[in-house]
Amino acid sequence: MGYQFVKSAAAFAEAKEYIPGGVNSPVRSFRGVGGTPPFIARAAGSRLYDIDGNEYIDYVGSWGPMILGHAHPAVTAALQKAVLQGTSYGAPTLLETELAQLIRLAFPSMELVRMVNSGTEATMSVLRLARAYTKRSRIVKFVGCYHGHHDSLLVKAGSGAATLGVPDSPGVPASVAGGTISVPYNDADTLAQVFAQYGEDIAAVIIEPVAGNMGLVPPCEGYLQKVRDITSSYGALLIFDEVMCGFRVAYGGAQALFGIKPDLTCLGKVIGGGLPVGAYGGRRDIMEHIAPAGPVYQAGTLSGNPLAMSAGIATLRTLTADPDMYRKLTGKTAALAVGLRNQAERYGLSLQFHQLGSMFGLFFTDQPVYDYDSATTADTEAFAVYFHTMLENGIYLAPSQFEAGFMSAAHSEADIAATIAASAKAFAKVAE
Ligand code: PLP
Repeated sequence: MGYQFVKSAAAFAEAKEYIPGGVNSPVRSFRGVGGTPPFIARAAGSRLYDIDGNEYIDYVGSWGPMILGHAHPAVTAALQKAVLQGTSYGAPTLLETELAQLIRLAFPSMELVRMVNSGTEATMSVLRLARAYTKRSRIVKFVGCYHGHHDSLLVKAGSGAATLGVPDSPGVPASVAGGTISVPYNDADTLAQVFAQYGEDIAAVIIEPVAGNMGLVPPCEGYLQKVRDITSSYGALLIFDEVMCGFRVAYGGAQALFGIKPDLTCLGKVIGGGLPVGAYGGRRDIMEHIAPAGPVYQAGTLSGNPLAMSAGIATLRTLTADPDMYRKLTGKTAALAVGLRNQAERYGLSLQFHQLGSMFGLFFTDQPVYDYDSATTADTEAFAVYFHTMLENGIYLAPSQFEAGFMSAAHSEADIAATIAASAKAFAKVAE
């Protein structure tokens, strides 16, 4: 029998009575594809199980953190041990230094690391630091890159190639959004023009070095180096937001993969092993401006929380325990890419399938996708048909074409074969 969503539909209706839109983060509501989001009861390995008893092979991985798969024994054991010792102290612990050490080993550019509770907090704090350090006010971001929901970065481009940002949500003051300049991704010439005009006033450029929030869009060859060169020549800081791609495209993130050294880096997701964590860090001389070492204020009641630190440490130690971990993750994701490309071709569909490390994304378009405008040539209706057919065949993908997919260490070859088989059905439905 096909999948039923009876209990989830009732749970969604009830949730809407208590929670705006029934969810605590908008994309979970399935707005991009329509229908009812399954309410999840539990997860293990590569699988999610919903309250109607449906089972799914999961490629969302809680939007990136679950690189080891769900309820990995090393992570759950670390959490069980930690929880018995108390859940929060608001005082320093050895765990915080241990996770900071592990992060610095993976990301040597992060000489000092400050823990926070989410990716949003990391990018919010790092902008304050960048402004304070450079004594400049403007920030440059890229259209289609997402860095969290705080005011300075919840901006969209106005009209034109390089524009002063306009609020991307009611409630974001135009004065704040206007301090952020938005430029197209993968376009070094426009960035150079912006610096020619505003360079002396630009504190920092923040970039997803591998973009994962307009679907997966890797940087073009040489692009990140140009961004590095432009920022350096104007004395602006380069911030890599590796909240999503850190520990994903390589253990050392995009900066290791492409050999670029940013001044500051933001992390999140994987470093919390599924608990709420973010971190920012970078050059010691810059990071020493953060309180209490320096004057730039930033704090957090639950920052460095022992449960979150324990889950993060267990995750990073497990990732490094197997020297073949990243080769296997990448190999499985590549196998999925080949399978899906072949199936799409079989059904005569134009598909762009991108993959880097254990991240992937597909666009229903015949155009090359390299920035936000080209990503939006993708056919969202075709994606909705594809998505729902996959869901009803037990494959849980992100409910939007403009989100990345994630492979985990727990996915088996059989999972990938089942995904490719389900995809054949879904492509057939799209081609109808
Ligand atoms: N930066 C990037 C690149 C992200 O992908 C996200 C979230 O998806 C964030 C920042 C915000 O992180 P959080 O949702 O933990 O606040």
